[in-house]
Amino acid sequence: MLGTLADLVLPAPCAGCAAERRPLRFGMCVTCVTLLEALRPFRTAPTPPPPGLPRCVAVGAYQGPLRGALLAYKERGRHRLARPLGMLLAAAVAELAPRGRPVTLITVPSTAAAMRERGGDHLARLAGQAVRRLRGAGWEAGVIRPLRALPRPDSASLSATERRVAAENSLRIRSALSGFRRRAAPLRGTLVVVDDIVTTGATLAAVTRRLREADMQVTGAAVLAATRLRRASGGSSS
Ligand SMILES: [Zn+2]
Repeated sequence: MLGTLADLVLPAPCAGCAAERRPLRFGMCVTCVTLLEALRPFRTAPTPPPPGLPRCVAVGAYQGPLRGALLAYKERGRHRLARPLGMLLAAAVAELAPRGRPVTLITVPSTAAAMRERGGDHLARLAGQAVRRLRGAGWEAGVIRPLRALPRPDSASLSATERRVAAENSLRIRSALSGFRRRAAPLRGTLVVVDDIVTTGATLAAVTRRLREADMQVTGAAVLAATRLRRASGGSSS
């Protein structure tokens, strides 16, 4: 009983390093905030890059407070982290988007099941915060979600090529988009695909190929974290 009460009263641990009883800003201790603010976006590319992968910029490696904050945000419902993480994502987008040109963010879609599990579209929230940040810094910025993701069959037994085809087939252009595209204006300027993590680049490449088929020329991809590529083990990494 006392344990349960304590859980209710004590503030959550730091999302970045799990330290307890620290003053938190956006759910993180001052050490983690400082470490995150010191990150500088860098060009990253998996080896070998999958066909169609655009230029890719990541905020940091998938480790330390960035990994902690991302997991807490995505898997443990710490939605307030969208703001600091979105600000970081904006820094990666800025590397790809020249000033003085409009920039449109395109989120990698989640399946309906993933959105139910996570209580919403975690990437759309991040992108919304990134757009706010970019506008504050003088960009004409917006976000669109032209794709939806269908459940993908288990791909463990598929070849690399078959996986590529399956990934692309699971992405559908929303039917409302034909109407959207007649308004054309938001698609001027720089198109940047955004995602939280890049591993093999397969998802970013599939999204980019799908968008190009629909005549949307992607300039690059911006992600929060880049994982070091491990030996391929099945097809679930993206
Ligand atoms: Zn911390």
